[in-house]
Amino acid sequence: MPRIVLLGPPGAGKGTQAQWLAKDLGVPHISTGDLLRESVRAQTSLGDEANVYIRAGRLVPDDLVLRILRDRLSRPDAAKGCLFDGYPRNVAQADELDRLTPIDRVIAFDIPENVLVERLTQRWTCPKCGTSYNLVTRPPKAPGVCDRDGTTLTQRADDAPAAVRTRLTVYHEQTAPLLEHYRRLGRLTPIDASGTPEQVAQRLRTALEGRT
Ligand code: ADP
Repeated sequence: MPRIVLLGPPGAGKGTQAQWLAKDLGVPHISTGDLLRESVRAQTSLGDEANVYIRAGRLVPDDLVLRILRDRLSRPDAAKGCLFDGYPRNVAQADELDRLTPIDRVIAFDIPENVLVERLTQRWTCPKCGTSYNLVTRPPKAPGVCDRDGTTLTQRADDAPAAVRTRLTVYHEQTAPLLEHYRRLGRLTPIDASGTPEQVAQRLRTALEGRT
């Protein structure tokens, strides 16, 4: 029952890797960012409230995120294990996660800051299946549409330059301290997240081999 957290700055490629790894491990990919965007699209009251923070690149308040996370974890597929992407993002969330479900491994994505900005501003995403593309390094086969389901790709509002800057600052101030938190608990494995998605996937497999 692997319970793994992918930790790293926005643009580090957690979402892409999480989709692949979740399939390999046969566990659900739980992305709080995706869950929040779903509630924004569904125009629930939680979604409307969260959207103000998301668009600005700030963290959505912990109690709102916890509500959607609890909901997701109560679904039967989460009993097989989980791959967390984008949660926890601060120490309070890490403590909450420890209370909800014990974490075996935390994989930290290491990547230089200049690469992040480039990746985020060139990113286009499928609103239906969540697949991310990069116009420079990983363009879709047909311009503007998803390889998997043909849906028209969109750019996330929070990939605009001002929101990207805020997200990076929030990461350094609130999320990066979790690296030390998990290192002290002996659960942290850093990987080099630069290079192609395939190279990163290989490093991730090596890091996880035999030790989950
Ligand atoms: P990225 O890691 O590229 O910023 P995500 O999809 O993980 O992308 O998150 C997008 C936005 O959703 C965040 O900037 C934040 O506003 C909100 N969000 C996602 N997960 C959390 C969380 N665990 N706590 C608070 N806000 C979150």
